[in-house]
This record gives sequence, C-alpha cells and structure tokens, in this order.
Amino acid sequence: MASLSNGQPESFVKIPTIKFTKLFINGEFVDSISGKTFETIDPRNGEIIARIAEGDKEDIDLAVKAAREAFDHGPWPRMSGAARGKIMMKLADLIDQNVEELAALDAIDGGKVYTLCKTLDIPYGAANTLRYYAGAADKIHGDVLKMSRELHAYTLREPIGVVGHIIPWNAPTVMFFAKVSPALAAGCTVIIKPAEQTPLSALFYAHLAKLAGIPDGVLNVVPGFGPTAGAAISSHMDIDMVSFTGSTDVGREIMLAAARSNLKPVSLELGGKSPLLVFDDADVDKAADLALFGILFNKGEICAASSRVFVQEGIYEEFEKKLVEKSKAWLVGDPFDPNVRQGPQVDNKQFDKILSYIEHGKREGATLLVGGKPVGNKGYYIEPTIFTNVKEEMIIAQDEIFGPVMALMKFKTIEDAIKSANNTKYGLAAGIVTQNLDIANTVSRSIRAGIIWVNCYYGFDSDCPYGGYKMSGFGRELGLEALNSYLQVKSVVTPIYNSPW
Ligand code: ADP
Repeated sequence: MASLSNGQPESFVKIPTIKFTKLFINGEFVDSISGKTFETIDPRNGEIIARIAEGDKEDIDLAVKAAREAFDHGPWPRMSGAARGKIMMKLADLIDQNVEELAALDAIDGGKVYTLCKTLDIPYGAANTLRYYAGAADKIHGDVLKMSRELHAYTLREPIGVVGHIIPWNAPTVMFFAKVSPALAAGCTVIIKPAEQTPLSALFYAHLAKLAGIPDGVLNVVPGFGPTAGAAISSHMDIDMVSFTGSTDVGREIMLAAARSNLKPVSLELGGKSPLLVFDDADVDKAADLALFGILFNKGEICAASSRVFVQEGIYEEFEKKLVEKSKAWLVGDPFDPNVRQGPQVDNKQFDKILSYIEHGKREGATLLVGGKPVGNKGYYIEPTIFTNVKEEMIIAQDEIFGPVMALMKFKTIEDAIKSANNTKYGLAAGIVTQNLDIANTVSRSIRAGIIWVNCYYGFDSDCPYGGYKMSGFGRELGLEALNSYLQVKSVVTPIYNSPW
C-alpha cells in the first residue's frame, strides 16, 4: 500500500495569494466580454482556489485583433532579433526571481510536486527555454542560392504571423514556454489558451511579460474551455498557425477546424503509449528505478510516460520483485511535502478515468501486481499501479491512460522487443536499457518514435527536438526545429545582368 503523507501543506510552503485571474489581452488584464468565470480546483482536496475569467469566441476575436495589429504594424516583428532576445532574457530573469511563487502556482493548480516545479519546470522549462530561443533570435537568416541560370536569388526567413497556442494541464509552465519562446524569437505574435484546469501560472507569466517589456498585443493569454475558446482559435480566419499539445482526439478536431477555416498549418503533439525495453544485460536495480520513474513521474500525467515496460525473460522475475519493493517505497501525498514523489491527479475526471482503466484491466484478465486503489479519502490520489500478465491487445496496453499505471510484459529476443515496442498507434518516445551498443543502436533505429532514451528517461532539454511519429502527431517542439516551424521561407529572385527576362 502506498502511504499518504499526512503533513499540512501550509507547514511546508506558503501557498501564494492568487493575484491574476483575468484574461490578458493587448497588454491589459480584462474581464471576459460575457462576464463569465470558471473555477480552478485544488486537486489535493477538490476545493476552489480561484475564479478565472472565462474566455470565449468574442474574447479570442479581441485577442486576435490585438495580435494582428501588433504583427502588422507593431515593433515586435520589425525590431532586430537581438532586441527581441534582450527582452526575452529579461523575462527569463524575472521568472528566476519569482521561482517559488510560480512553482507553488503549478503545484496547487495541477497537483505537481512543488520541489520539482521549483528545480525543473520553472528554471529549465521556462527560463532556460526562453534564454535558448533569445540566443537564437539574432541568428535567423536565409541562404544565398546558386541558380543555374543568369539569376541571383536569396531566401528570407519571415515570421509566420499570428500564432494560436492551445496547451494541456499536465505541464502548464513547460508547455507555455515550449510554445511561446520560439514563436516570440521568430517575431510572431501569440494568443495562448492554457488548459481550464491550470490557468494560474500562465496569467502570472503574462504579467511578467509586460514587466519585461514585451509590447502590448504580442502575447495574449486567454483562459477558457476547449470547445469554445480553443475551437475559436483553431477555426479563426485571422490566425496564421496553430500549435497544440493534448489528446489525439482533440488534435484531430483542431486539424479539421484548421483545414475547414483558412488552411492554417498545424503542429500537433499528441498522446503516447511509450515502451521501455529492458534487456538481460541491464543492471536490474537501476532499470527498475528507471521504469518506475518513467511511469510515475508527474503521476503518469505525461505524454511520454513509459506505460508499457518490456523485460527480457532472463531478468524478468528479479525485475518484477524489485518493482514491487520500490513501488511500495514511493511516497504519494501532498505535493508540497518535500518527501513526496507523487501528488494527486489533476482533477476528478482524470481520477475517475484512471480508476476505470484499472477496473477494465482487471476485467480483461491482467493481474494487479501492486496498487490499483485511491490513496486517502480526500483529493485525487492514486496508488502506483502495475499490471502483469498483460497481453498486447488489451486496452490497458493500447490506450493512453495518463496515470500511474504500468503494463509489465516479457520478451525473448531483440526482434520480439522491437515488434512489441512498435505495436501501438502511437510513436512519441521509447526507452532502452542495455550495456550493449549494438542492441542500443539497432533498437533505436527500429522503433518508430520521435525520441529514444538509452539508459535514461525524460532526457529533455531546450535544444533537443521532441514530437511524434504516427498518431502521436507531427511537428517538433524545442530545438531549432521548433523555431523553424514559426518561420516561413520566401525566395527573392533577380536577373544578374540586365537580361531580357
Ligand atoms: P484532456 O482531455 O486530457 O483534458 P485535451 O486534449 O482535451 O486533454 O485538452 C488539451 C487542451 O485542448 C486544453 O487546453 C483544452 O481546453 C483544449 N481543447 C479541448 N477540446 C478542444 C477543442 N475541441 N478545440 C480546441 N481546443 C480544445
């Protein structure tokens, strides 16, 4: 049984007063046109943290108007890349100065472990990503072309225009900056809709952006719901591109809406059912740690979670034993408690969905090795859960559960491992644990996924592109790949001589 930490959150860290609850449009915090608000909930106890202005189509229209004006006539796309970079660096510094408050906002809003927000999400996911793209902003250039005829040509890389960003709730800060930073560096203007479950840090970032000197209209933050505010973004005739992270089903809706409106390009980072392959030569103890980390980090609410773990038969039994021991020592509880490794699921909808998948797994005939139940009687906590005797066709081995639920399976040969790893409609990430370079190289090239972690998991950084194969989407976050997705190429051609063209 996983244990629930019983400390009072207030004894660990000060919960901040919520300062920003309105929409941020054209450099101002404003009420929604309808005057409507919605509740954001603390998943530790189901209580209301704050009421947030609810953006809808009319508010998105206003935000687009501001972003259009800022793009067509404002300074942001026209200033030098170095000048944009300087302002982005200032924003990164302001984020560092507010790290504790920001970390507390993501922890209380999303049930995320506070110390991880403080040491990873905010300094790396926000400040470092901003600095990475700030440094790239003055290195955007085209090429001089060698034409085969008497022509001289060069390419320009121009910002794509007004960009719509729709982000999920599992990593509110990391997603915000993975989207916004390359777009801003490119000279685009942005309307971003945070997820309805986690709007708090996004509004704080809007405030800091203003302090840093990002001109009005360049960054607009409009909280609201998917079918209203989100759909207004994807179907808007005056938004030039939309970048989305979230579920595969919603990704399909967004692509359809983009196609039906103005054919805006889309970038989609969607679901996953990522495999971790552990080979016989692995250090079993370390591999078991990695497997648990891969599924339990952020309570399994991460699209790259290693939800399918395949272990080679020679070490399977020992591995299973270690997993049981280690999962029992994994502390679930208040995310502000420094000893806790896993907080509550984000809301009651996710909580119910995960528990119903667990029930489904039992009905399908898989064996519940550990966990499977809620923890405590308040909030949305779920035990680390591991199923064995899982068949690859089972729903729990095919659907993205987005919770702390691992499907543990066995394999014989490297060929079996590759086949099983690819037996999914998704292709976001994969992990390989082996000391054998031939295995690592062969398997890395054979798995159809956008990122392969060898002897590690969640090795993310600002310069490392991240995105999906297959139904995990297309387009890449982070790295120069993401910067390029916010730029378009224009060719300029002139005759070299005064020729009769
Ligand atoms: P989940 O179902 O896990 O909450 P979603 O993929 O539905 O994840 O949500 C991710 C983001 O997509 C959120 O910001 C949500 O508001 C938004 N969203 C949901 N439905 C739509 C939609 N039909 N159009 C545009 N955005 C949407």
